[in-house]
Amino acid sequence: MDPILKEPASDHIASRLALAVHEHRLAPGTKLNEDEVADVYGVSRTVVRAALQRLSHDGLVELRRNRGAFVAQPSIRDAREVFEARALLEPRTARSAAERVTAADLAALNRHIEEEHAALAAGEGGRALYLSGLFHIEIARIADQETIAAFVGQLIARSSLIIALYWQRRTALCESNAHHALLDAMAARDGERAEDLMRGHLLDLLTSLDLRNTPAPARSLREALGS
Ligand SMILES: [Zn+2]
Repeated sequence: MDPILKEPASDHIASRLALAVHEHRLAPGTKLNEDEVADVYGVSRTVVRAALQRLSHDGLVELRRNRGAFVAQPSIRDAREVFEARALLEPRTARSAAERVTAADLAALNRHIEEEHAALAAGEGGRALYLSGLFHIEIARIADQETIAAFVGQLIARSSLIIALYWQRRTALCESNAHHALLDAMAARDGERAEDLMRGHLLDLLTSLDLRNTPAPARSLREALGS
């Protein structure tokens, strides 16, 4: 069952496109032709335009005057800033989450890790990346800080673009070891350890980026969106 079917059409299309970006099917810099997207999803151009506006708000799409919409292409500076912002927010969030986590939360986090493993084992690196992002968003949710959770969600979305552009160890992604260690610290309600682990994990992610690389070329839109 598709849980996003009940949303307005434009939100549904925005979610589909965001997932395609997360899963690396849509490369940074790809032109999102309105007619073509409308055709692929069987919706009107108006719906596509609203979806692209929303994604531009989230920093996933860049709208260029007279040229249309493109999957955003974060610069090296953007990449550093996004990870600096994450390093400011997420360690404290992990501490708060560890202090208030419930058994149901721990079970949900464990499920995330298992799904991530299954995706990796199936060779679905893009999906694994998407799921590892959800793990971080879930921690912010457990910390019960809505404003920070919304920021973290946006930063994760942009991180996935950044990873698509600058990642140099494709197989490691968010190392599941790091997520396991975080889960253990949370299960022990050890806020200090959770904070330290998250700080180390984000630093490790940042040092896994090759911030000298030039972006890879975009593939065709139809190929990226077709199922
Ligand atoms: Zn992670």
